[in-house]
This record gives sequence, structure tokens and C-alpha cells, in this order.
Amino acid sequence: MTEKRIVVVGAGVAGLTTALLLSKKSGYKITIAAKHMPGDYDIQYASPWAGANSMPVSVGGTDAAEWDKNTWFALEELARHHPDAGVHFQKANIYNRKKDIGSDTAKWFSELLSPDPWWKTLFPDYKQIPRTELGADVDNGHHFTSVCINTAIYLPWLVSRCLENGVVFKRAVFSHITDAAARGVHHSGQAADVVLNCTGLGSRSLGGVADELVYPARGQIVVVRNEADEMVSVSGTDDGPDEAMYIMTRAAGGGTILGGCYQKHNWESQPDPSLALRIMKRCVKACPQLTNGRGIEHLDVIRHGVGLRPVRDGGARIEKEKIDGTWVVHNYGHGGAGYQCSYGCAQVAARLVDEAGLEGEKAKL
Ligand code: FAD
Repeated sequence: MTEKRIVVVGAGVAGLTTALLLSKKSGYKITIAAKHMPGDYDIQYASPWAGANSMPVSVGGTDAAEWDKNTWFALEELARHHPDAGVHFQKANIYNRKKDIGSDTAKWFSELLSPDPWWKTLFPDYKQIPRTELGADVDNGHHFTSVCINTAIYLPWLVSRCLENGVVFKRAVFSHITDAAARGVHHSGQAADVVLNCTGLGSRSLGGVADELVYPARGQIVVVRNEADEMVSVSGTDDGPDEAMYIMTRAAGGGTILGGCYQKHNWESQPDPSLALRIMKRCVKACPQLTNGRGIEHLDVIRHGVGLRPVRDGGARIEKEKIDGTWVVHNYGHGGAGYQCSYGCAQVAARLVDEAGLEGEKAKL
């Protein structure tokens, strides 16, 4: 097969992971072209805002569960053997309250809250938390070891691994996905053979894709210098059906993420100060260790943040399609799970690029 020119549109965790896996194969010359790059903080760029941890919300037996499973193996390997990636192991506790059933946060979390989850054999140390250790309003809970990713280290780490493998990065904004295949976008100056669409929420408005199944689920966080030994997530709060409670301490001095909310169709980019207050109160109540048993005024705030999870009704889209004569491989719509499914999804997308390349070869014969 002749060397194929690939343009990856998007430099979030989906685009970077897909480019990295492709760059490890022979036969590809890859350019990543994106509006936002690691180092940017913008409401149109979800990846820097994520906690990020791995807590499967996929349903057992589905493709999504397979993506989560395959990603866990890669993240575990990074946490164990590559400290420079900014991924570390952290113990996790998940609490389910029956009274949250039906709320947006509980629906988002439903598989995570199952008393018999498919992923119980995946993570080390899985156990049900005994009834005697649960609070009065908690119905069941899990304890296991997962990872927490410092996205401020991990995204640049992915960039570095791609650069090592010859991937070229450039800034570009496209109004139609096939514009990425035009001469002058790929670093060779030639037209691209295959375009990867890893534009997250951008896929809702990008010409040639315009996927109306994609919408934002707004997440607001507070990043603090205080630390928590273990991660905590609860199915809901008493402050409204779209508010959430989670705590995770990032690897390598990345601070602790206090969250949050899951506000569907909300595009607001600015932090809501009242919500921030509720987040801090809930987290300090759930984890007094954060402030050594003192009040929220003892939280040392690094920043308040807002990100938009790129949710897609029906789940992430990983498919190939020919648009106006150009092969496009889609990898977008990962909602609140873009890190925990990143390798699994990128493996599938990379296979589809192989197939599209072969079909392009056949068409030339
Ligand atoms: P993005 O990171 O949004 O990247 C999209 C890229 O496409 C950007 O480079 C952008 O500039 C580019 N782009 C878009 N349109 C165009 C265009 N027209 N032209 C050129 N470039 C374009 N996930 C987890 O797995 N675990 C977690 O703990 C977790 N926590 C989260 C907490 C919060 C508060 C939020 C907001 C999200 C969280 N997520 C988590 C979800 C995760 O962040 C997303 O699923 C993931 O970042 C999506 O990555 P992406 O690469 O698809 O999109």
C-alpha cells in the first residue's frame, strides 16, 4: 500500500489518541489540524476540563463497554509504568441513593450504580461497601482502584508522543469536514486520503456532519490545592436533579477536582457562583479530610471551570463514511467518558482508517 496522508481534525483526547495509535502503524503521514490545542482553555474544548478518571457508565455487552475495557488496560499500563504521562492510581468510592433514580445525574451514572456491575472484574480491589459503612440515605456502594488523570500533563504527553512519531500539528478552523482534505492542509501540501473527524461538540455544527444528536451536558468544577486520599462519586445531591457530587485528586500536583453538575443543553461558559458554593459545601461535607474538618473557607481555590461534555444520543459515533468523494472516519460524541473510552474508540477508528485506505487503493485499480 502506498503511504496514506491522514488529516485528524481535533486535538482533544479523541483526536490525539487516534493520531497516536495511527502513528505507531507504518504507512501513514499524519497532520493534526485543530482550532484548539493542549494549553488552551476554551468552552469549545472539553478535554482540559475533565477530572479525569475511569468509572464506566457503559452498559455491559455493548460496544461502549468493550471500548471502556480496552481503554482500562492502556490507562492501567500508563499508571503502572509511565509516570511522565500524569496518570496515577487512586482508590474510588461510589455511592448510590435510590431517591436519585430518574434524575439526569443518576441516569448518566446508572451502570456505575448497578449493585452488580459488568466491570467488577476489571478493576483491582473491587468490593461492595458493607451496609454498616454506608450513610443513612445511601442504598449501595462500590469500592475499587481506578486512575485519575492530570489532563494538564496528559494532553501535552500525547502531543509529545505524536511528535516523536512524526505527526505534524497545525491550527485550522474548518466550516466543512471535507475542507480538511483540501491541498495545503496536510503537511505534504497534497490532498489527504482520509480525514478523521474528532471534533467533539463541534460535530453538531460542522458542515458535512451537522449531527443534531450531539448536544452539551455542562459540567462546572472547582479546582483546589487541598487533597483527598480517595475519589468519591454520589448518584445525586439534594440540591437539584442535574447537580452531582464527585471528588478526585489529579496525579503529579494537579490539584483536586470538586464537581459538579450534568446540565443538558446548557451552553453557558461562565461559572455560576451559587453552584460553585454548593459544590464546595457538598464536597467538604462528604470528605472533611479536604479541609481537616474545617469549613469551605479553608479550601484553597486554584480556579473555577466550566466544560461542555459532548454527549450524543445513542452513544459515540465511530464510523467511516464517504462525504463528497472524501473518506471520513468519525470518532466523536463521547459525553462524560472521553478519557475512559479513548483507547478503545481510537483502536476502532484506526482500523476504519486502514479499511478506508484499502478501499481507496482498490478504487484506483
Ligand atoms: P474536545 O476535547 O472538545 O476536542 C475537540 C477538538 O476539535 C478541539 O481541538 C477543537 O478545537 C476541535 N474542533 C472542533 N470543531 C472544529 C472545527 N470546525 N475546525 C477545527 N477544529 C475543530 N471523561 C472521562 O473519561 N472521565 C472524566 O472524569 C471526565 N470528567 C469530565 C468532567 C467535565 C467537567 C467535563 C466537561 C468533561 C469530562 N469528561 C470526562 C468528558 C471528556 O472531557 C470528553 O468526553 C472529552 O474531552 C471529549 O474529547 P474530544 O476530543 O472528543 O473533544
